[in-house]
Amino acid sequence: MTLKEACDTGKQELAQAGIPDAALDAWYLLEYVTGITRTAYFAEPGMQIGDEQYKRYRSLIKKRAEHIPLQHLTGEQEFMGLSFRVNENVLIPRQDTEILVETALKFLTDGKIPAAGNGICLLDMCTGSGCILISVLYYLKKNGLSGSGERAEVLAQGTGADISEKALAVAEENAERHHIEARFVQGDLFENVEGRYSMILSNPPYIRTSEIDCLQDEVKMHDPICALDGKEDGLYFYRRIVKESRSYLEQGGMLIFEIGYDQAREVAELMIQAGFSDVRVRKDLAGLDRVVCGRYDNEWKG
Ligand code: GLN
Repeated sequence: MTLKEACDTGKQELAQAGIPDAALDAWYLLEYVTGITRTAYFAEPGMQIGDEQYKRYRSLIKKRAEHIPLQHLTGEQEFMGLSFRVNENVLIPRQDTEILVETALKFLTDGKIPAAGNGICLLDMCTGSGCILISVLYYLKKNGLSGSGERAEVLAQGTGADISEKALAVAEENAERHHIEARFVQGDLFENVEGRYSMILSNPPYIRTSEIDCLQDEVKMHDPICALDGKEDGLYFYRRIVKESRSYLEQGGMLIFEIGYDQAREVAELMIQAGFSDVRVRKDLAGLDRVVCGRYDNEWKG
């Protein structure tokens, strides 16, 4: 059996099972099992695949045909150019979420974020795999706080909070993998969070309960439901986080949310009602509303 034959049969099987990116997924699994690079494969597609490897490949293709996400088979997902460990206990990081990280980094490097204590303090509420917090801290460490590209001495501290112990174990592993020091706290939103933060980031569960059934099998059967379900109108966590975050933000600190494409107006309204100023919406690469952010000046509001 050649690599190409293996890959072609894999592709066919996935296509028959209705997997949208059948060819790509068949290739990724082949790459995962054999460790071959794309260049080496194209240079010599007639290379033989070992019996053991072929067996393993077949069993992964079978699982993928059952709509188990590719990322659960390989245990990895790339986000912000970094590889994150994932499993069934965390939401698989989405490319859409990168705009949240980019927005946060822009505010931080523009120097418009108040220091808290000894430096910048970040809180990632509903951290899941930790992908948001870890990539913000990673790029701050790499590029410094000054927008000029100078390597400023960065004193940024990060905390990730999540209700799921099992998710936090994954986040901790990811922090270690990228040599990032961060604290992780288990609890129902702010339940066990202490202190004040320069910036609170959050991609909370925001799907309306009634819409969960309409999601792809990969999502509704394999992402943790508690990471998706935003209750009846999808806004349950935004309401609570907007309200409660005010006691955890520094004077002039920022709250930055990822939102569903049709939630910008409602989430912005919640923030304005709660006394946030400078509330803005940002779009993702597909042109859909994806981020809402605002600043909280608690001092003059008493
Ligand atoms: N913060 C994580 C992410 O964006 C998890 C979000 C969640 O569980 N809703 O991927």
